[in-house]
Amino acid sequence: MTDNERAVKIVETLHGNYPQADCTLDFEHTWQLLIAAILAAQCTDARVNIITADLFVNYPDLISFATATQEEMEQAIKSCGLFRNKARAIIACCQVLLDKYDGEVPQDMDSLLELPGIGRKIANLILGDSYGIPAVVVDTHCARITRLLGLTSHKEPPKIEQDLMRLLPEKWWISWGHLMVAHGREICKARQPVCNICPVALLCSYAVGTADGAAGK
Ligand code: SF4
Repeated sequence: MTDNERAVKIVETLHGNYPQADCTLDFEHTWQLLIAAILAAQCTDARVNIITADLFVNYPDLISFATATQEEMEQAIKSCGLFRNKARAIIACCQVLLDKYDGEVPQDMDSLLELPGIGRKIANLILGDSYGIPAVVVDTHCARITRLLGLTSHKEPPKIEQDLMRLLPEKWWISWGHLMVAHGREICKARQPVCNICPVALLCSYAVGTADGAAGK
């Protein structure tokens, strides 16, 4: 079986096991997903959703974020880690969206990467989950499990992203990241993967002993 065939079998199997796997950040507008994604760095999505439930009521549009003071934004998101840097990034990002993009979140990678606080992971999340443009989000779950599966030998997210784009048909790019999160929470846990109940064990390089185990840890 080629790696492409194996990757497709894995994603089809995981999709069957986690049919509801989707973005777990709450948002209504694309700019809200952008802010939620900034908040999600080193913070759980559940915590972010608690914060944004109030935040998006108290700051209902880009102008209210762009004109907020650093102090008040810090206060509004302080239950989140790295809140000072995140407050700074959120305000600056919303200012650029208003000044340069007429309040619209751009739909191309290069423009997204120019926004304060936005890296490839968030840019791909926006492209895929808000605009439906095929894109692979590589977070810690995705990087770790993709290596264990033997679908990449890299540790750098951009290289893992490239490997996945080469191995998977476009129609699965958006789902892959969500399936990795679901699988990482349920079975392929960071502390100890539960390989004996894993539906893709027979397709997994780590489980069949051909992977460099150290690379996946
Ligand atoms: S077989 Fe084990 S290491 Fe491989 S994906 Fe499943 S839980 Fe993770």
